[in-house]
Amino acid sequence: MSVSNEMVRDTYDLYIGGTWMSTVDSKRFITSNPATEEPLAKVAAAQATDINHAVETAREAYPGWRDTPPNERGRIVYRVGQRIREYQDELATLESLDQGKPRSQAKSDIEGAARYFEYYAGAADKLEGTSVPIGPNQVDFTVREPYGVSAQITPWNFPANLFARGVAPALVAGNTTVIKPAEQTPLSTLRLAEICSEAGIPDGVVNVVTGFGEPAGSALTTHPDVDTITFTGSVPTGQTIMKQAAENITPITLELGGKNPAIVFPDADLDETAIWITRAIFTNAGQVCSAADRVVIHEDIHDKFVSRLIDCAEQYEIGPGKQDLDMGPLASKDHLGKVMRYIDLGRREGATLATGGKALDQDGHFVEPTVFTGVKNDMRIAQEEIFGPVLTVIPFSTEAEALEIANDVEYGLVGGIFTASVKRAHRLAQRLEAGNVYINKWFGDTYQTPFGGYKKSGIGREKGLDALESYLQTKNIAVNLSDSGEGDLPGA
Ligand code: NAP
Repeated sequence: MSVSNEMVRDTYDLYIGGTWMSTVDSKRFITSNPATEEPLAKVAAAQATDINHAVETAREAYPGWRDTPPNERGRIVYRVGQRIREYQDELATLESLDQGKPRSQAKSDIEGAARYFEYYAGAADKLEGTSVPIGPNQVDFTVREPYGVSAQITPWNFPANLFARGVAPALVAGNTTVIKPAEQTPLSTLRLAEICSEAGIPDGVVNVVTGFGEPAGSALTTHPDVDTITFTGSVPTGQTIMKQAAENITPITLELGGKNPAIVFPDADLDETAIWITRAIFTNAGQVCSAADRVVIHEDIHDKFVSRLIDCAEQYEIGPGKQDLDMGPLASKDHLGKVMRYIDLGRREGATLATGGKALDQDGHFVEPTVFTGVKNDMRIAQEEIFGPVLTVIPFSTEAEALEIANDVEYGLVGGIFTASVKRAHRLAQRLEAGNVYINKWFGDTYQTPFGGYKKSGIGREKGLDALESYLQTKNIAVNLSDSGEGDLPGA
């Protein structure tokens, strides 16, 4: 096995119960560097029996973790954040090698991962219930309890960051976890599980199973001993998992795709806006659920704004993550094929290729920053998530038309408004069908702000204190203080 960095081990087993464990049949798959197509490591391919073992291990660890005093739980979770910081360089290198993103962007992802653990750690001893004033001779109150075993399925675009986004709130709430990363990018997740143990997370509280959607992912989401599911990924897989979860009535949080509109008015600062939008579509080679996929431009500024977008796009330098240029490769060969099919489709649908559109003629899955103009909102390139560095430009003439175009899509993850008018910005922010709205900026969500989709972009919220709702259930306790023996009737 050719290994391009000494931090990468030759082989990886499953991480269950605080130890490395081979699969029942010792099967492995190869994860490779998308910038060079060289194999990086052989990784365990879990089967249903292995998933069973991981869930049982998490189940056994649950009472101990649930009953750990909250301040102690918070301290341990905080230490995970600190340890991630200590290993930031190593984790960023792993992520950049396995996923492809430029090293400084991987470093920023790891910084974000540390912040999730630090932020949620402080909430561990503040998960309070309420007292309900139902009258004399009675006491009524609520407590917020963990679910038990939290299954977490993550995609390949931000593996380490999304591990932290889900696992940190699950842990502070008292749940134990089983995480399945995407098969393309398992390395940072495996290292993070080890770091959790090093920081003092008890054995069995964080378990990682690597492998494929089938059989590993579905064995996890259909497991009767899984108490809640957090899934981040595409709409079709989210739909499958939702149907599977129905079997056991397992609660589910879905963070799915987006086809996000950025509306640009003539009074916006066009130079700044062009930088915001190109960064918003080309960061991580467009493999971002909250990318600015559709820019909806007022007709009066259409041509001059498009020429700024093209200038910005053509300045992008592309190369392997370790060169730390502006943009890395797409995460896999299959995904490059999908993005190139969409570029071809855009041409066939009659859009104009204003810049880019080619895969680089070299090793690795590189594609140029691409801008399509003359796009109509009913074209497939305007409606479907391409998940690559492909920007579609749609003109509008009135504010009402801009809003209609922005909302006329099955997704509702994020949206942006670029204007100098405060009134217009707020008017549109109220009407955009999206879980997050950015005004004169993009990627305006942080670890502190709730994040999640309207419409087919998902159910529930990640990030911020809202995310804790996915990991806590409310119990109401009613206490009789009277000696009268009089009883309440149902429905009273
Ligand atoms: P995906 O194909 O849906 O896969 C996501 C995860 O689900 C992977 O770990 C995958 O495993 C697993 N999986 C596949 N089939 C499964 C099944 N039947 N049961 C259980 N798990 C299964 O998504 P992706 O292509 O990796 O990621 C890109 C998508 O994620 C985009 O749509 C993007 O918008 C979305 N995303 C959303 C957010 C957000 O917060 N809203 C953030 C990031 C990404 P395998 O890898 O083995 O197939």
